[in-house]
Amino acid sequence: MKKFRSVDACELTTMHCGGTIAVVYEPETREELKRLIADLDSFFVIGGGSNTIFPDGLITTAVIRLGQAFASVGMQGDLLQAGGAATLRSILSYCATNAFTGLEFLAGIPGTLGGALRMNAGTPDKGVMDAVVDVELIDSEGLHTVPVHEIPYGYRCGGFGPRAVITAARLRVEPGTSQEVASRIESFLQRKKNQPRGFNSGSMFKNPPGSAAGHLIEQAGLKGFRIGGAKISEIHANFIINDGSATTADIRALLDTVKVRVRERFGIDLQEEVKILDERL
Ligand SMILES: Cc1cc2nc3c(=O)[nH]c(=O)nc-3n(C[C@H](O)[C@H](O)[C@H](O)COP(=O)(O)OP(=O)(O)OC[C@H]3O[C@@H](n4cnc5c(N)ncnc54)[C@H](O)[C@@H]3O)c2cc1C
Repeated sequence: MKKFRSVDACELTTMHCGGTIAVVYEPETREELKRLIADLDSFFVIGGGSNTIFPDGLITTAVIRLGQAFASVGMQGDLLQAGGAATLRSILSYCATNAFTGLEFLAGIPGTLGGALRMNAGTPDKGVMDAVVDVELIDSEGLHTVPVHEIPYGYRCGGFGPRAVITAARLRVEPGTSQEVASRIESFLQRKKNQPRGFNSGSMFKNPPGSAAGHLIEQAGLKGFRIGGAKISEIHANFIINDGSATTADIRALLDTVKVRVRERFGIDLQEEVKILDERL
């Protein structure tokens, strides 16, 4: 197993902020991962880091990033099987090449399958868990395969326990044509063309029932509002953009301001979608 010391947290997340991670472990086998989890009192798993923000300063909680041995994509019978470290991009590229349809709604979402399952990532009306048949994971009790009907998932919540590390999953796909799959992927990518660019974590807040967090934040007059190096995007108010100098404290302060202003104006408590870690893990 690879072990990296003093890793700059900026390099592991798309928000590109945070302090120094004391140790990042990179297991390459299920056995290594099982032993590691059994040995660690607390840990945090990182995938593509597109929904995660690490704290400033020294991060002493161990961080686990699955090695490339967990990034395979292929078919098992008529189900698509992919490892927890496979990127959604590599899964969609496999589907386009091999003419399998059903997962195109994931196009343009950065990160890994493990992160996507934990977040139940997707569009406003569909999450990746809707396509899952079963999930292989390792937790304190060892390696299990859990059928989807036993997983209590919901909107932007995969329904997994805090110590579960997702190592693989099987998803439903249907035969199609490469051209049709590529064109559906392209149409989902087009919808994301107008999203803000730069260092960010995608949507910071979940949409409250019947409303859109970005709309509420905009109506609260916060578009363009800045604290330190972190700013509410002028393009999409549910995005925070790091100009390259933001600390996690700047982002935290901005999130807190948004929550207070939206509560004052609309009486709605916004829930964070992004995972901001602290050392109380
Ligand atoms: C530009 C941009 C656009 C985005 N668009 C969308 C969108 O359209 N829809 C959407 O839903 N999201 C979107 N996101 C958010 C994010 O991309 C998704 O939530 C993504 O699925 C997170 O995957 P990740 O591997 O980067 O997760 P990470 O940020 O690495 O981790 C997210 C969570 O998953 C956990 N985790 C990671 N890997 C594993 C594993 N193997 N086992 C168990 N837990 C694990 C982490 O501990 C953490 O709690 C966007 C983000 C960005 C930056």
